[in-house]
Amino acid sequence: MASALTIRPFRGPATGVAAVPGSKSVTNRALILAALGDGETILEGALFSRDTRILCEALRTLGFAVGEEPEARRITVMGLAGVIPRGRARLHVGNAGTAARFLTAFLCLHPDGEFELDGDAAMRARPMSGLLRALGGAGARATSPDGREAAGFPFVLRTRGMAGGELRCDASASSQILSALLMVAPLAPGLRVTLEGPTVSEPFVAMTERMAADFGRPLERDGSTWSCPDPGPYKARGRHAVEPDATAASYFIALPAVAGPGSRIRLRGYAEGGLQGDVAFAGVARACGAGLAQAGPDAVSASWTARRGGNFDFNAFSDTFLTLAALAPALGEPVTIRGIGHTRRQETDRLLAMATELARLGVRVEPPVEALRDDPAADHLVIHPSLEAMRRTTERGPARIRTYEDHRVAMSFGILGSLDLHGDGRPWIEIEDPACVAKTFPGFFDALETLRGGFVRVAIDGGAASGKSSTSRRLAEMHGLLHVDTGSHYRAVTLALLRAGIRPGDAEATGRALARLRVGTTIRGLGAQVEIDGAVPGGEELRGAAVTAAVSPVAALPCVRAFLLGYQRDQVELARAGGFSGVIMEGRDIGSVVMPDAEVRVFLEADPAIRSARRLAEGVRDAVDQRDKADASRATAPLTCPVGATRIDNSRLSLDEVAERVSRLIRDAR
Ligand code: C5P
Repeated sequence: MASALTIRPFRGPATGVAAVPGSKSVTNRALILAALGDGETILEGALFSRDTRILCEALRTLGFAVGEEPEARRITVMGLAGVIPRGRARLHVGNAGTAARFLTAFLCLHPDGEFELDGDAAMRARPMSGLLRALGGAGARATSPDGREAAGFPFVLRTRGMAGGELRCDASASSQILSALLMVAPLAPGLRVTLEGPTVSEPFVAMTERMAADFGRPLERDGSTWSCPDPGPYKARGRHAVEPDATAASYFIALPAVAGPGSRIRLRGYAEGGLQGDVAFAGVARACGAGLAQAGPDAVSASWTARRGGNFDFNAFSDTFLTLAALAPALGEPVTIRGIGHTRRQETDRLLAMATELARLGVRVEPPVEALRDDPAADHLVIHPSLEAMRRTTERGPARIRTYEDHRVAMSFGILGSLDLHGDGRPWIEIEDPACVAKTFPGFFDALETLRGGFVRVAIDGGAASGKSSTSRRLAEMHGLLHVDTGSHYRAVTLALLRAGIRPGDAEATGRALARLRVGTTIRGLGAQVEIDGAVPGGEELRGAAVTAAVSPVAALPCVRAFLLGYQRDQVELARAGGFSGVIMEGRDIGSVVMPDAEVRVFLEADPAIRSARRLAEGVRDAVDQRDKADASRATAPLTCPVGATRIDNSRLSLDEVAERVSRLIRDAR
């Protein structure tokens, strides 16, 4: 019996930055396009999961150089301009639909290939015949072990390259079939791909078109026929950024609906104008009561103000229907999900799987499970609000959700289980085989854990080069905190004064200049960047010798401190509104003056010799000791270890060790 994971309900708000991995659809398309490119492409923010590993591994087996750096979320592919080095290989595609379809079409470019392909049991049952028939039209032959023409895995694929001409394809069962053919089209000059009948999930076709264009080979569409007017190998991209996975993001958009009041989640890199059709889930969530707000140039925050039902067509973004289906019993009104007939032949029969597991919890669904089982053509589901029924069903203990080796079933019920159904924190859902999430999101349940807990304020104080910035940046990443470097505020003001020709320390002239100065904030990634008169000053200028020499006398002026104090306190609200799980602010007077009531207060110190050496290693000559003396001896808000702060001497500690110590304090505080 597979192991199970007990989901712990959220007893308080969910807050923080959702660690959404890169998009599977974009990563696997980019791998194919990069391999067909005329040089090196580095995929940044790539997904590392079972499905992408399968494709990387297959490319390596075929003789491509594919470098994986999971920590850096980077994959490097050396494209060979349409050449596939090996013509004989055995390839296993697991249950990865993208790898299965994309590779099969890709292999047909080999002028004299013989490839043995197989997949998991579930993949053997998934639609391939539309693709194999189309490729047959281009001269490839797929033969089953029984010697007959293959309609699915396993098969031996004999290829003799792809010439021009017309390929007709039936992609009614999966849009991946069409995408697979479109991606090889530029490598087969004169090839036209014609779609017979409809396809599902149109946005995925649009994604393929946009990515082919990004890799330098735009496709032309005339009705149902595609061609490449300027054929040839794809153009190597240098660096190619992979968007975060919009389907995975849907779980975190949904989470605040079931977690405690005050929940707000930040989604980094989530863009409704991106390549992925699944961002359309945002519209459904809004209709049901989600508030999604742009939170800086590169993020969206999600919170919920109502719990409504509705009637939705999920055909074009069906991977996210499971998210809504699992959320639906917790909403106040019935939810109808239409257009999902094709999902009955994906990782599992998803429609039946969701209905079965909801019914297991006591939820009323239509058509009922037996009717769905008897009617393979059924393509919709109605889910009724069922809090009472779920309470009764799980009164005596958690219900165990079966996941059918389907990552999305596991993740969506993980969200429903986050609801404090019984009001006492008692777990009521167990997820069978939670490891199946590795298909697209290996760290899903860990990512969910990091969002548990309320808003926390962390004050990091210390002298120059005491390690405040690196420690704060690391902690911001670990806990989803907004990082505010108040040193940069003083530097920015100093820069503005120097530009205006004001002598550092001239209180009167400074006061007059401050009355005209506008400071603002831009949030990029996890960092708050100070804006002066509408622009973010350059890092080199801020940290340059002129500003470094002038900043301490400027920072000692009471008018400067008063000016920045209000601004710095406002950063806390900015973090809250942006969906961060808290703020980590570093400086000289944070725990003593700016946030004396911060839940976590830390004072970092290190031997002066070590601190000077750190600056030198950064290539900066900085009289750290002198600056510290000036900062510690000024009358207003001097550098000091705040009362009650935790002192950490990091002279002989690694960054990891310091971060772990402070992390413990943060976890306790949340
Ligand atoms: O941390 P950083 O070296 O960028 O700080 C530059 C200067 O800004 C410090 O030497 C200090 O004079 C001033 N500062 C301050 N109070 C803070 C942060 C920085 O006085 N909270």
